[in-house]
Amino acid sequence: MIVVMKPGASQQQIEHMVERVHQLGLRSQVIVGTERTVIAALGEKRDGAKQSLELGEGVEKVVPILAPYKIASYEVKKEPTVVEALGLRVGGGQLGVIAGPCSVESRGQILELAHLVREAGGHGLRGGAYKPRTSPYSFQGLKEKGLELLAEARAATGLAVVTEVMATEQVALIANYADVLQVGARNMQNYPLLEAVGESGLPVLLKRGPSATMDEFLLAAEYVLKTGNTRVMLCERGIRTFEDHTRFTLPLASVPYLHQTTHLPVVVDPSHGTGKASLVVTMARAAVAAGADGLIVEVHPDPEKALSDGFQALTPAAFRQMMAECHKVAEVVGLKM
Ligand code: PEP
Ligand code: MN
Repeated sequence: MIVVMKPGASQQQIEHMVERVHQLGLRSQVIVGTERTVIAALGEKRDGAKQSLELGEGVEKVVPILAPYKIASYEVKKEPTVVEALGLRVGGGQLGVIAGPCSVESRGQILELAHLVREAGGHGLRGGAYKPRTSPYSFQGLKEKGLELLAEARAATGLAVVTEVMATEQVALIANYADVLQVGARNMQNYPLLEAVGESGLPVLLKRGPSATMDEFLLAAEYVLKTGNTRVMLCERGIRTFEDHTRFTLPLASVPYLHQTTHLPVVVDPSHGTGKASLVVTMARAAVAAGADGLIVEVHPDPEKALSDGFQALTPAAFRQMMAECHKVAEVVGLKM
């Protein structure tokens, strides 16, 4: 249920209602909006709880939450959530651009890319230090050395560092270096990991599992939100279908669908979504046209020599072109970039 407080309800009235929610054996999550505060009452509904809460002072109404995801739902909060980390701002009319290599490979590579991303107007630097690879024989990432290089690139450019966490045990270490924790597609339903990144308090970029439905995706986000961490970005990165002309199929209808369903910002990854560098710029433009709140793309100074995902990496020139084209589309759809 959601306890919707009247505009101007006092702090004391809000606290009283939180206490009432607890007395009914429910957990509470207070969501402060610009106009009014709502209290999500979570847990097994008891008979008479709704009627009892409605009697509280300062309460406007108590409504059942119909969506299975209680905190992520648009029913609970109508204003878009804006996620910020350093100069990266995603949501609420601001388009955040996160770019960088699939994997951090060397000091020279990550510094060169960080400067490129910064100069081209990007806001976040991506780069995997711990890499989820299909084959155990493929490059697995530079691990902590990679994190150190990312932190050095942040110090040189001011870009927010976005990097993947693959396991619960890695959260504390990676949180020392990263500004945003990425949960990869393969881990979207790793529930202990979702709770651990939530508890880190850092912003989280949650990628959609390649075979996850929208409800499963939103319920995964709910695991993070349930820890009290509201800084969650959803990332559409393509799903597995019968189609094989692209690495995955990038369903851009996810963007307006999610905007109708949740207040969380939506980031699109046209690199993994297509798996083909030649398709990335156009699909980035299309994502912006669909109203995406952010983009995450792979760039490499020399894609042929990349240690992972070179086939989908933009060259520096193509990345600059992408930025210029997305700027134009952003202006048309009223997004700031
Ligand atoms: C990545 O961002 O490099 C990555 C592994 O992405 P995904 O989890 O979407 O496959
Ligand atoms: Mn990759």
